[in-house]
Amino acid sequence: MEVSIAGGSAAGLFAALLLARAGHHAVVLERDRLEPAPDVESAAEAAFRPSAPQIVQPHIVMARCRQLLIDRLPDVYGGLLAAGVAEAPLWTQMPESLSETTARAGDEQLTPMMTRRSTIDWVLHRAAAAEPRVTLRYGVKVTGLLAIPGQRPHVTGVHTSQGDLPADLVVDATGRRSPVDDWLAQIGARATVTRQAECGVAYFSRHYRARPGTVLPGLLATRVVVALDEFLAGKWGGDNGAAQLVVAPLAADRRFRTLRDPEVFTAVLRTVPVYAAWLDAMDPITEVFPMAGLHNTLRRLVVDGTPVATGLHAIGDSVCTTNPTLGRGLALALSGAADLVDTLSRHAGDPAAQALALDRLVGQHVLPFYEDQAAIDAARLAVMRHTIFGTPRPKPPETRGRVSYPQLRVAAYYDPTAFRAFWKINGMVCPPEQVYTDPEVVACTRETLRQHGSGPPIAQPTRGQLLAALAQ
Ligand SMILES: Cc1cc2nc3c(=O)[nH]c(=O)nc-3n(C[C@H](O)[C@H](O)[C@H](O)COP(=O)(O)OP(=O)(O)OC[C@H]3O[C@@H](n4cnc5c(N)ncnc54)[C@H](O)[C@@H]3O)c2cc1C
Repeated sequence: MEVSIAGGSAAGLFAALLLARAGHHAVVLERDRLEPAPDVESAAEAAFRPSAPQIVQPHIVMARCRQLLIDRLPDVYGGLLAAGVAEAPLWTQMPESLSETTARAGDEQLTPMMTRRSTIDWVLHRAAAAEPRVTLRYGVKVTGLLAIPGQRPHVTGVHTSQGDLPADLVVDATGRRSPVDDWLAQIGARATVTRQAECGVAYFSRHYRARPGTVLPGLLATRVVVALDEFLAGKWGGDNGAAQLVVAPLAADRRFRTLRDPEVFTAVLRTVPVYAAWLDAMDPITEVFPMAGLHNTLRRLVVDGTPVATGLHAIGDSVCTTNPTLGRGLALALSGAADLVDTLSRHAGDPAAQALALDRLVGQHVLPFYEDQAAIDAARLAVMRHTIFGTPRPKPPETRGRVSYPQLRVAAYYDPTAFRAFWKINGMVCPPEQVYTDPEVVACTRETLRQHGSGPPIAQPTRGQLLAALAQ
């Protein structure tokens, strides 16, 4: 089949590679004029682009994404390692308080990868450029759809800034601000249905490099995130000695509006001892990158049991965005691309069956993570708003026959079974609900909470110290 893919970032390139290797011809239409960089450092320096501002933000490759790469795109997985991306086996994530640190069967499946996002894109672009059945067209904006009209139009190609392009199939991989509903309206199709749940945080991050000759306060290639009372802070390990520090306050918390200033950013991180130690061991190599407008969203292209159009599919952030602190986007993008390719082969020649099957897979592979994220965020936002703005104290979560994510996070400090359950959810290796309701996980989490209460104390600033840092 001739497949036109709108959007040449992670989802578009995952799909192009998988489609090409399944025997299709994929044309990737990317509106930005992307210049191939000679190496990962040049790619990192040129990474910022307004149409995909998240590319300069920290990106962990969660275990599910890593496993899918190994299974479906082993050359890309190998390319990431060759480009300096680091693996972070489960033992590197173990807190000192864990009662037992012996390796267990299955730990390997829970390994995440540490990288800058620009390095992933660099590897993906090189793989796609070398793929005979992929054509990359940069600087070409998709502006609409070609279609056979009808109650349920059938898409036959795309309008672009450089003319029309017929195709057997069109894939929307245009990301979180996808214009697909405008395109559908232009061909007389119904709109998609999008669910939204508040994510509520803003991101401020900065890239650093470990200072040569300095003893680091811990392993560089890990992610250390702490959910503090009034904001979230984190260190994301990267490739080739790079790392990123993050401050993520509530988007509505105006006290943090000066955080883009490097001095304020540094002062706020210095109020948290674990990050002060990292600041002493690393030098900044970029400005502070802010990013707001973050949401949990889930789009379905099958509405009331019928596809809004045939010959059109969507993947990646166009389908689902989730709170970035849990790093789910790349895994959802790759699993969506894999589901697309599998669906085309299972339902070859039947566009309606393809649309319905792919929507069922969104229900199985995407929806559980969207719903989990929406629940985690609602609970955390309510607690933070209570602490910061004095809104009513939230009710404790319903935990009959199940545990919640915050409970598991506390138990994971101490109990090896809860620790692995926590990383199964983070790694997205099975639906979260399966972990929350696992009787063994429920029992050990409850027992651990009974013994240890609310977890080890985290050294964090008083309100006065925080306000002083913000007033730098
Ligand atoms: C702050 C932040 C941190 C994150 N951290 C993580 C993480 O740690 N781990 C993780 O897995 N995920 C993370 N994510 C999510 C991840 O960035 C996204 O899931 C991923 O980028 C989705 O890729 P995509 O290709 O669907 O969309 P995008 O990367 O947004 O790409 C869309 C592409 O489409 C192009 N485009 C748009 N419109 C058109 C058009 N009309 N015609 C042609 N081209 C068009 C754009 O130029 C862009 O290149 C994070 C996200 C954010 C915001």
